[in-house]
Amino acid sequence: MSDLLLQKLFEKSDLADDEFTQLIESDFFDEQLRQLADKARRSYYGTDVYIRGLIEISNYCRNDCFYCGIRRNNYHVERYRLTRNDILNCCETGYKLGYRTFVLQGGEDKFYNDDMICEIVSTIRKLYADCAITLSLGEKSYQSYKAFFDSGANRYLLRHETADTEHYVKLHPSEMKIDNRKKCLFDLKQIGYQVGSGFIVGSPYQTTQNLIADLRFLQQLQPAMIGIGPFIAHHQTPFQNFKNGELKLTLRLISILRLLFPYALIPATTALGTIDPLGRELGILAGANVIMPNLSPVTVRKKYELYDNKICTGEEAAECRHCLNRRITSIGYNIVTHIGNVKECKQQLIK
Ligand code: SF4
Repeated sequence: MSDLLLQKLFEKSDLADDEFTQLIESDFFDEQLRQLADKARRSYYGTDVYIRGLIEISNYCRNDCFYCGIRRNNYHVERYRLTRNDILNCCETGYKLGYRTFVLQGGEDKFYNDDMICEIVSTIRKLYADCAITLSLGEKSYQSYKAFFDSGANRYLLRHETADTEHYVKLHPSEMKIDNRKKCLFDLKQIGYQVGSGFIVGSPYQTTQNLIADLRFLQQLQPAMIGIGPFIAHHQTPFQNFKNGELKLTLRLISILRLLFPYALIPATTALGTIDPLGRELGILAGANVIMPNLSPVTVRKKYELYDNKICTGEEAAECRHCLNRRITSIGYNIVTHIGNVKECKQQLIK
């Protein structure tokens, strides 16, 4: 029975809801699932692992997501913003270390208006024509996304976090709407970005049905990138007493995602490395093919604490780069200096 289920997932990149339930709720299939996911990844990407240089430009945020350490109502956070020159210095360091994608990530911070973002993006574009520019700046209008794209941004990350409306309401204040987040994702796709979405594994109140809704939403969106990570409680949030998401379930879902979206770029996230010292390596072995090391100045890293005990907040960029090289090589994969675009996604966008 297990063989049939996994073979169906491998060949058809889909399952019925009750079949997903079996896979998600049992650890019985894990090793076989992992091996098939690895096979699918190798058929598209071989043993290549792409690196993305993450630049955390601001920890100010107008939102108040209940799970997030830098939510606006956390008055204990020491807030910071990187200047244009800080950001360009991070890119310069990253380029020398072999990064060919820069990810500018931040809370929803009104300080950076569209003109400022466009100017920074177009400067990076001029200086590093062979690099991808990824933005992760939250929900914006169609016009803003379009202006960033026209300035030279290629990719946009916006996790939907949970696709189920009732569950979304339990994780976010009432002014935040899942419908708007989904609209943003489809807008980004229509503009021409390589779009990344994803969800939290093991977030408070999450059910298996919620996870299946996440998979179904991703099937509609057909994103280029899919980032998932375990929920990790932050001690200054309303969810401080909830238990963390599980490593095993996160790895299982990475393998399922690889089989559903064999072409996708799937990061082994920092959150995975935070719940287990070998979490990122295990993520790669489960089917992930991207790592996103931190290029932010060391002086601000600890201030961008979305969850407790986040790793890699002390090392210089060069140390991180060498450490990751060793880690990825040790499990039989290779970090490549490459822009690392998504392999052609064959299915068309379903609206
Ligand atoms: S998860 Fe993102 S949008 Fe929500 S509070 Fe944190 S930084 Fe802001």
